[in-house]
Amino acid sequence: MLRNDNHGRIKLSGLTYEQLKFWLSENMDMKPFRANQIFSWIHLRGATVFQQMTNLSRSTRELLETQAVITTLRTDSSLSAEDGTIKYSYLLCDDNRIESVLIPDPPRLTACLSTQVGCRIGCIFCQTGKMGLTRNLTTDEIVSQLYQLRSTTETRISNVVFMGMGEPMDNFDDVRDALSIISDDSGICIGSRKITISTVGLPGGIEKLANLPGQYGLAVSLHSAVEKTRRMLVPASRALPLHRLKQDILEYNQEKGRRVTLEYCLIEGVNDTIEEAEALVEFTKDLECKINLLLYNRIEGADFKRPASDVVEKFMSYLYPRCQAVTLRRSRGADVAAACGQLGT
Ligand code: SF4
Repeated sequence: MLRNDNHGRIKLSGLTYEQLKFWLSENMDMKPFRANQIFSWIHLRGATVFQQMTNLSRSTRELLETQAVITTLRTDSSLSAEDGTIKYSYLLCDDNRIESVLIPDPPRLTACLSTQVGCRIGCIFCQTGKMGLTRNLTTDEIVSQLYQLRSTTETRISNVVFMGMGEPMDNFDDVRDALSIISDDSGICIGSRKITISTVGLPGGIEKLANLPGQYGLAVSLHSAVEKTRRMLVPASRALPLHRLKQDILEYNQEKGRRVTLEYCLIEGVNDTIEEAEALVEFTKDLECKINLLLYNRIEGADFKRPASDVVEKFMSYLYPRCQAVTLRRSRGADVAAACGQLGT
C-alpha cells in the first residue's frame, strides 16, 4: 500500500513486489528489472539506505533518496530468557512501542511479529488486550520487525508467526501485503507453509486468508468451546459465534488442505474442566486440527492461575485419543514476559 513518511517520501519497504514495480515505472520511469534489484536489496540483503544499492547508478540512488525511504525501527530494549528466547521492544517513528520475539528451537528459528500497537479484542488473560488499540501497524513496520530480528542473528530465520501484539485480521490489508513481501522469492523468501497467522476469528477474516494464494498456517485462538466461557475470555468473539467459527475453519481445511491449530490457554477453574474438554472434543469433530494447549502465563492485574499438573494431565487424557492431535506447548520466554499473552508495553 502506498504510504508516505512525514517528509512526503514513499515508504518503499512496505510495497509488495508488484506495487514496487508499478511505482518505479510510473514515478521513476524505471524498467521492471530495477524493481527486482531494489526489492532484493531491501528484503533479502537488508539494505537500510539507498546508498548501499551499489548496482544502481549514483544519480538513481540520489533520486530515490529524495522520493522514498526504507523504514527501520529503533531498538528500545531487549531481554533474553533462560531458554534463549529474546524479546525486543521497538520504537516506531511516532514513539509508540511494539514488541517482537525471536524464538530459537533448533533447527528452527522463529520470529514472532506484532501487527498492531495494542489490541482491541480484549482477551482478559492477555497483557496486550489490556492496552486497548492505539493503531494498526503499516506493512513497512510489520516487515521491519523481521529484518531487525534478522540483523541480530547469524542463523537464518526459518519460521514466522503473527502472534505478537494485535489481532492480524483486524489489520488485514497490511498483514496481507506483509505476507506477500516476506514470502516473495526475491526477498527474504520464507515459504508460506512456514508462516502462521493467529486469530481469534473475526467475521470474514479466515475466509480472506483462505482466498490468498499462499498455503499459510492458521492458528485459531479458541480457549474454550463453550460459548459463555469463550465470550468471557475473548470478549470480541461475540461477533463470531462458535458454530460460524467452526464453519470458517472447515472451509479453510478444504480450501488449503491444511490442518488448523487450535490454541487453548488453560486457566485454573475457568476452562480446565471435563465439561470444557467434552465441548472441545465436540467442536473438533469433522475438523482437521491439532489442539495446542498452553498454560496461562501470569500478567499484571489478572487474578488467574495455571491449573495444577494433575488437572492438566486429566484434561489432556480426556482429549486424546478423542481428538486427532493434542500437544502441550512449552511456554517460551515467560521469565522475560515474552510468552503468549505477556506482550505489552
Ligand atoms: S490474545 Fe491476541 S487477540 Fe487477544 S487481546 Fe491479546 S493480542 Fe489481542
